Amino acid sequence: MIYPDDAVRLMTSFCHAPDTETATLASALGRIIPSPVVSSMDQPPFDKAAMDGWAWQAGEGGPLPLEPLRARNVIAAGDSDERPLEPGETVKIMTGAPLPPGADRIQRVEWSEERDGRVTFSRSETVSNIIMRGENIRKGDELLCPRILKAQDLAILAADGRASIDVARRPIVGILSTGTELTEPGSSLAPGRIYDSNRTQILAQLAGGICAPTDLGSLPDDYAETKAAIRSALETCDVLVLSGGVSMGDFDYVPRALAACGVRKEFHGVAMKPGKPTFFGRTDRAFVFGLPGNPVSVFVNTELLVKPLLAALSGITIKPLAVPVRLAECICRKPANRVEFLPVRIDGDGAHPVRYGGSSALQALADADGFIRLEIDETDIKEGSTRNVRLVR
Ligand code: AMP
Ligand code: MG
Repeated sequence: MIYPDDAVRLMTSFCHAPDTETATLASALGRIIPSPVVSSMDQPPFDKAAMDGWAWQAGEGGPLPLEPLRARNVIAAGDSDERPLEPGETVKIMTGAPLPPGADRIQRVEWSEERDGRVTFSRSETVSNIIMRGENIRKGDELLCPRILKAQDLAILAADGRASIDVARRPIVGILSTGTELTEPGSSLAPGRIYDSNRTQILAQLAGGICAPTDLGSLPDDYAETKAAIRSALETCDVLVLSGGVSMGDFDYVPRALAACGVRKEFHGVAMKPGKPTFFGRTDRAFVFGLPGNPVSVFVNTELLVKPLLAALSGITIKPLAVPVRLAECICRKPANRVEFLPVRIDGDGAHPVRYGGSSALQALADADGFIRLEIDETDIKEGSTRNVRLVR
């Protein structure tokens, strides 16, 4: 059995810098930038007004003008007025408009009064109300480090004037269920059968841009059929994710079928709960996961093993969202030789273990906000202690 962190280290060691392609910003949500992006301009590109008001020259002097100022023209957002301010002059200026030369302060409109071309200020501003050129970011500085692009990242790229961005080519990920008992949701259920939930789950977990998930259907527990399906999937997929058929059962044909298709085993068995029987191997061009069939194992292993590999194939390391939370109830378990991931829900009192009957208890995920990791041989975590919860999104 390999320790889960070592499994991730081993898998990611096989990844090289990804191929890239250009994506329009409209299609780049969820895609991965594998290299840093550098700012092409100062942001903002000019000194600009942070509010509607009067631009004037306060200099080092007192907080308010000694005499009423003479009102000049209005500068709107989008104008460019290069005329310097004359002594004793003020210019009406709108939020986002460029500052005229000589101005160093904006007096908000609410604290000013204009009468017959003369402007008086009722209260002094404590800040300049000016956003200085380059205050947000300077040309040549790092705009974005490698990451999965979120909405706010796309806004940052757009503000830099970019209509497109180089992103990692998405690995093609085939998802294949195995199990004679599996039935498609929506059809009627014969005795002894269950609905296939793993395929739906994995496809949805991998949706969103980091890869191109492809539904390869489900297979009965049949050696020849399993081998044929794997062989055909390996012709097109960069990563193949199977579920079921990797344990010790009489009809668990997946590891044998993978070997017959030229997949070299890297590990089979991970010191984690759930998800112990997981297989991982590779060919010269593809990576293959054989996940155990139990649905909670599939969920946890897709998060902890499959996603980190996909991220590494795109040139990044995933930073899981983990937050320290106080335990509202104690957690106890028997000594174990595996790292355990326990589903918890979070409320105002802290984290509570959810009702959880083990790796087949899919319903537990409906209440889970995240998982607490128990290290090998860790048996009791006391109520009131603080632990990281890895949030489930
Ligand atoms: P296996 O790993 O094939 O021994 O399967 C372990 C358990 O997971 C069995 O109870 C299976 O019926 C169940 N299982 C396997 N594949 C799926 C699937 N695609 N959807 C839901 N449950 C599954
Ligand atoms: Mg099975």
